[in-house]
Amino acid sequence: MTPKKTSLPPNLTVWQKSLRWAPTTAQQQQFQTLYEGILVGNQQFNLTRITEPEAFWEKHLWDSLSGIEPWLTDEPPDWLPQYSPSQSPRIIDIGTGGGFPGMPVAIALPNSHVTFLDSTRKKIQFLETLAQQLSFPKTAFVADRAETVGHHRNHRGRYDIALVRAVGPASTCAEYALPLLDAGGMAVLFRGQWSDEDSQTLEKALPPLGASLTEVQAFVTPLTQGVRHCVYLQKTGMTEIAYPRAVGIPAKQPL
Ligand code: SAM
Repeated sequence: MTPKKTSLPPNLTVWQKSLRWAPTTAQQQQFQTLYEGILVGNQQFNLTRITEPEAFWEKHLWDSLSGIEPWLTDEPPDWLPQYSPSQSPRIIDIGTGGGFPGMPVAIALPNSHVTFLDSTRKKIQFLETLAQQLSFPKTAFVADRAETVGHHRNHRGRYDIALVRAVGPASTCAEYALPLLDAGGMAVLFRGQWSDEDSQTLEKALPPLGASLTEVQAFVTPLTQGVRHCVYLQKTGMTEIAYPRAVGIPAKQPL
């Protein structure tokens, strides 16, 4: 059965007030194409349970872009590497699943080069087809484990920004992300609740990964007031060659 066609709310004022950014008409159309594509894909692949237009807007579109809010404007804060939307940061979305946060990010930052990584090949194949419908000029798709890709010369140290949402404990996400970053690059961990204690625990895991915790940004989602935090880790040194550890170990024995 074809899913019924529904329209996403534009919410332009909400975008502007919450993230100091709003999509162009063309980007709004791309969000709609993405939404419809995900609804169709959901019939075949288990991509997301969030399918109502308002919920999709908030929990997938808005939530994905909250983590790159500092890069959406021409004046990123001092604590971030200075990439403005006109430059071409190399971004990797680790454990992208149904394409989040990577798909909305590729729409919002059209000059960026976004690589989508997931261990499930059928999801990656689906996203590749969806990206063609969205006419993304600069995307790449990798069906593999983060632990394997982290030791591959085409990927290790090759990215400016690594995004990780809903892929496990924070230190597991850090172990997946940091080896992939170039010097000065930034990992963004999308988290729900977050405390000072969480920061202290995560900081203990960072020395062998060559990173430091730079910033934690607290957000409240604009429609349902959910709690979100984005944790920013900067690559300040070298990641020891032993990291990421063998497949399965970062998740089973988080640093
Ligand atoms: N990031 C998406 C989101 O927030 O909607 C998907 C989250 S889903 C809960 C976790 C995804 O991470 C799954 O698609 C899974 O296949 C992928 N994944 C888990 N461990 C992975 C690993 N070590 N390497 C690559 N992908 C992984």
